[in-house]
Amino acid sequence: MLTIEELKSKVCQEIDRRGEEIIGVAQAILETPETGFREERTSHLVAQKFAELGIPYRDSLAITGIKGVLQGGSDGPTVAVLGELDSLIVPDHPKADPETGAAHACGHHAQIGMLIGVAVGLTGSGVLPFLAGGVALMAVPAEEYIEIEFRESLRKGGKISFLGGKPELIKLGEFDDVDMAMMTHTTPIQKGRKLALGGTSNGTIAKQIQFIGRGAHAGGAPHRGINALNAAMIALSAIHAQRETFKDADTIRVHPIITKGGEAVNIVPADVRMETFVRGKTLEAIKDANEKVDRALRAGALAVGGSVRITTLPGYLPMANDPNLQQVYRSNAISVVGKGKVVPGGRHGTGSTDMGDVSHIMPAIHPFAGGATGISHGNDYLIEDYQLAVINPAKAMVMTVLDMLADGAARGKEVLAKSKPRMTKQEYLASMEELLTEEVYES
Ligand SMILES: [Zn+2]
Repeated sequence: MLTIEELKSKVCQEIDRRGEEIIGVAQAILETPETGFREERTSHLVAQKFAELGIPYRDSLAITGIKGVLQGGSDGPTVAVLGELDSLIVPDHPKADPETGAAHACGHHAQIGMLIGVAVGLTGSGVLPFLAGGVALMAVPAEEYIEIEFRESLRKGGKISFLGGKPELIKLGEFDDVDMAMMTHTTPIQKGRKLALGGTSNGTIAKQIQFIGRGAHAGGAPHRGINALNAAMIALSAIHAQRETFKDADTIRVHPIITKGGEAVNIVPADVRMETFVRGKTLEAIKDANEKVDRALRAGALAVGGSVRITTLPGYLPMANDPNLQQVYRSNAISVVGKGKVVPGGRHGTGSTDMGDVSHIMPAIHPFAGGATGISHGNDYLIEDYQLAVINPAKAMVMTVLDMLADGAARGKEVLAKSKPRMTKQEYLASMEELLTEEVYES
């Protein structure tokens, strides 16, 4: 019988031995960036790797998701390790797809590298018979909440129910047999630190807005038109006027964009579209800010005598790391990169992730790995050091999996016994459905 420490060193040796192959997967995905629910080539590559490693899997989950499952030698809990398949759209990124503008400006390709690293470590080292329970290896679509119009067309066509990959997989039941979950995101960590435990994050809702006016000759008869662009401008100012009412503690973020500004320059704009997120630290704070945003949108329509259609879509819930699982991860992170190289947890980030949704229904962690440079979501965001961005986090996660499932899954069962998920799956789905609203305001 091998000790947990011996199991860990076998798995890490295997990951080191095949490091080049593991990093190669991440680098291959960097060259073929695809946005959410369109990750066909990326998904195919994961399927190919799973097949090569002899991992049974199912594909086409939430359109492009893949789930492989490894079984230990006896029964026990199932731990999921996740990697996100999707890219962003940053057309001036050096690795952007020239046709679609898609680019990995958030480092998700490194996450798929980590996922394959965990898979290689577990299958190649011969440790599985020593584990009680299973490991779900999940390549998940659409974490970046973008291309809302495209995703709405998928939703209205019945292909998806939610615009993010993990909410969709939760709804489809792909987390029903999962007891706890983890993933690692890359980030430019400063001051020589290499891994970070992560903290809480903002949740978000998304809004699609259409101002409807009346077209008319912009030079000859503007008085006969109703200018929807002016309605949008007034609404934007009215949103900005709300900002002084947002409490610092709620970390509200509202950041609208105009996705359509008019039809032609010589016609009074009659159809102007916007998208925005309304982010905040708690669902209550998000709902409060959202009411103010709606009021501002109506004000724009009212001022010009037009109308506005406001579609509010459920986004992502705030992230909450499970403290006990995070403690186990912390000691593994230290043993991989050394004490003093791990950024402690507890900080609040104002971005959002659908790992927050997973963390509401089961114990979950969302640590960060260094190795990236540039500005997240910017045209200079690159993975500079793949050892830091892929190999280290793969090891820290797989060691945590071993802690959960070795020794009859004693520690895994302990983490589960101590955790108090905030919602059941049913409560989660009900709260998501409640957030979906559509209003047409006519002045
Ligand atoms: Zn990301």
